[in-house]
Amino acid sequence: MISQSTIDTLRKTEVGARNLFIDGVQTAGATGATLPVISPIDGRPFASIADGNAADVDRAVLAARKAFEKGSWSRAAPAFRKKVLTKLAELVERHADELAVLGVRDNGTEIGMAYKAEPVSAAGTIRYYAEAIDKIYGEIAPTADNVLGLIHKEPLGVVGVIVPWNFPLMIGAWKIAPALAAGNSIVVKPPEIASLTLLRLAELAAEAGLPEGVFNVVTGRGAVAGEALGLHMDVDAIAFTGSGPVGRRLLDYSARSNLKRVFLELGGKSPNIVFADAPDLSQAAVVSANGIFRNSGQVCVAGSRLLVQASIYDRFMDELLKATTKLKVGDPLDLGSDVGAVSSAEQLTKNLNFVAKAAEEGARLVTGGERILTETGGSYMAPTIFENVTEKMQLAREEVFGPVLGVMRFDTEEEAVSLANATVYGLASAVWTSNLSTAHRMVRAINAGVVHVNTYGGADITVPLGGVKQSGFGRDKSLHAIDKYTDLKTAWIALG
Ligand code: NAD
Repeated sequence: MISQSTIDTLRKTEVGARNLFIDGVQTAGATGATLPVISPIDGRPFASIADGNAADVDRAVLAARKAFEKGSWSRAAPAFRKKVLTKLAELVERHADELAVLGVRDNGTEIGMAYKAEPVSAAGTIRYYAEAIDKIYGEIAPTADNVLGLIHKEPLGVVGVIVPWNFPLMIGAWKIAPALAAGNSIVVKPPEIASLTLLRLAELAAEAGLPEGVFNVVTGRGAVAGEALGLHMDVDAIAFTGSGPVGRRLLDYSARSNLKRVFLELGGKSPNIVFADAPDLSQAAVVSANGIFRNSGQVCVAGSRLLVQASIYDRFMDELLKATTKLKVGDPLDLGSDVGAVSSAEQLTKNLNFVAKAAEEGARLVTGGERILTETGGSYMAPTIFENVTEKMQLAREEVFGPVLGVMRFDTEEEAVSLANATVYGLASAVWTSNLSTAHRMVRAINAGVVHVNTYGGADITVPLGGVKQSGFGRDKSLHAIDKYTDLKTAWIALG
């Protein structure tokens, strides 16, 4: 773990103007225009990124395609790809302090969480796919004796990676690592408000020995650089994490261009269901508070709808309030802070609009609901709980992506299932119960990509992550993710 003195030194590091990363080198954008990087810690600019456009995306895709055709990565022995990616994992670990602090200055996540979730987790992900890639075999089909049917697994070609600002390095690695391990070339479009760590990752990849042109980064605005990538005729797939509306655009771009495949990891409105027989109510309350408030609620799987069984409602709410008010919101680069800054002033305004609407619709504010620490100039928000939330309210239906929890009560298991599934989303969920049968029934009944039991979050790289319904399709993490970045090719050989 990182020390406070290291953090205090690194937080003063000059970052300056950052270029695009194309064909193995840093390069200015076609127009020379830049975007300021504003830290949500204090609201001040501390760097700038290139405002990449369609011409820059063209350059990056061309470099990626050329590298792919050349074959020094795409057709290299898996053992070679493993060696380079293992080296990259080591470099990410070696630079973990630097990457963690850089990322926190960019997006405001509390350092304790950012350190583990960003460089440490990204390094683990890269190592996982590096180790996997020389253990995946093609197949021999069960044919008649006079024929040989071979099923090869091949990389797709050029993969576009578009990720959000909450955990750019971790989520980026979930896509970048399996795509590279399978032999693809990539063009990454980082989130405009948190691009710095992915730019650094590309540099580290070059240092690890990844051939030029295999890993390119075009920073810039989603509606410009992101759109150009989505519409590009020579991009074979887009792996996306972000909001539903942008996910829909990407499907549209695909239909209007070359029918590239699109994998969407979108938002959620995940139910966290506490039954009266939960094994330990106070522990459940602490984990539930962390499950919505850490990283200021900017977690795709955040348990943003809390469903509590009526018979323990008051007791549980007391425990939840205790756990919530204990969370210290403050400077994300202070190891003593449990919750850091909201990623941007715009996101904070969005969160406060949700609060106003919830109050207007009749939900009862239990705690929070306001901007705090205004004297810092940064974007901080008090963890916020509303109760008496009903199915029709905006707070029960729409993703806030902020530290705002809506609480509902239920009597029966059937009612819990019905409330849990009353959403267009289906990303994550949790059930707290001592009854094994209840747990298994709930796992089957809840429409979501993951059902936690007696915990929230923390699922490691060995299991898939992704949603059902409007939370998207395709899975990150685990060996299953590799399927997204490979195609099957049949060889049908007459043996005579
Ligand atoms: P966003 O959809 O606004 O942006 C995500 C990325 O898409 C950014 O890189 C952005 O620049 C790019 N983009 C924006 N407009 C684009 C366009 N027209 N064409 C192409 N690219 C475009 O999302 P956000 O605000 O960065 O992140 C928050 C959202 O992400 C939330 O809805 C959250 O639930 C979701 N999210 C989901 C997961 C998951 O695994 N399912 C994880 C984290 C975040």
